[in-house]
Amino acid sequence: MKQDILSLSFDELSRSLEELGEKKFRATQIYQWIWTKRVRNFNEMSNLSQTLRDRLAETYFFQTVKIATPQKSSDGSCKFAFSLNDGNIVEGVLIPAKDRVTACISTQVGCGMQCTFCATASLGFTRNLSVGEITDQYFVMDSYAQQHMGNGISNIVYMGMGEPLMNYVAVTQSVARLIDPKTVGLAPSRITLSTSGIIKNIIKLADNGFPCNLAVSLHAPKDLLRTQLMPINKTNPIAKLSDALAYYHEKTNNRITIEYMLLKGVNDSLQNARDLAEFTKRFPVKINVIEFNPHKAASYQKSDRQALDAFVNFLKGLNLIVNVRYSKGRDIAAACGQLAAKHRKQN
Ligand code: SAH
Repeated sequence: MKQDILSLSFDELSRSLEELGEKKFRATQIYQWIWTKRVRNFNEMSNLSQTLRDRLAETYFFQTVKIATPQKSSDGSCKFAFSLNDGNIVEGVLIPAKDRVTACISTQVGCGMQCTFCATASLGFTRNLSVGEITDQYFVMDSYAQQHMGNGISNIVYMGMGEPLMNYVAVTQSVARLIDPKTVGLAPSRITLSTSGIIKNIIKLADNGFPCNLAVSLHAPKDLLRTQLMPINKTNPIAKLSDALAYYHEKTNNRITIEYMLLKGVNDSLQNARDLAEFTKRFPVKINVIEFNPHKAASYQKSDRQALDAFVNFLKGLNLIVNVRYSKGRDIAAACGQLAAKHRKQN
């Protein structure tokens, strides 16, 4: 069985090559081809002998992604459908703004969290993405951004399809590759991982000193409502989530982003805002209030402007940091919660 070379860290690659009887410095060369020059084919590794290239191709493969033509939104954002080696499809989104280009990437084929407002939930869960399938969404969109948007990607958000903390190993390894100063060298502060709140893995991130930003999709500050919206809350209830976030802050000293999407008449009252403020008391936060993006799979409506303003002003009145996120890419179903590529190519 061939091994996926993209899932190997530098040390693992060194060891694996040593087992093949190769010299140590080969690991540096090959790692550079893969992670600095972004080559996905052993034949292009021109400083290696043909014999070694053949040997590598017999031993390893690249678990990577291929793209179809991106779909462009009238607001400038671009949605990419990535096909995987096994025919599954995931989506990524490029979001250009004045001072940055943000890439939104997926971590799973489908999602098993069953959030009632999210289009990805309607797909169900198929499988986790590998390290290469995650990082290569970035590489593909980065070269597109360089060619078509005048700048490469400056920020990455793990906010596409899937629950990143249900794919802990590949997700944290993909982050490690992207921030490795020897390769891509993105600043950790430019990467944000968003989770529906998988407590045991928030604790693991804390224990491992996660260097990037953590965002939590809260959407409701009390258990009864949150469990209705997000069934994962049954086993990951708010009091324990709060403990985990306090611990995360204690360990990493990082501010936590709380995502709160407003659903008309469901979670947008002043009482909800008061409860949300209460929730944020134990650790420093930034609150992103998100407009709901409608789609076929959910019957919710977005809150009207008045309710949104009242909600936001209440929080601001308590000196909390609040940003309102009006989603991009709605016309091409690329906005938050709208990613729902078909699982498999129709043959
Ligand atoms: N599973 C992770 C990553 C997905 S991030 C998480 O839950 O955080 C996508 C963000 O968009 C999450 O905050 C999610 O709750 C939110 N979202 C889902 N459906 C949405 C919709 N229809 N409109 C607006 N935001 C939505």
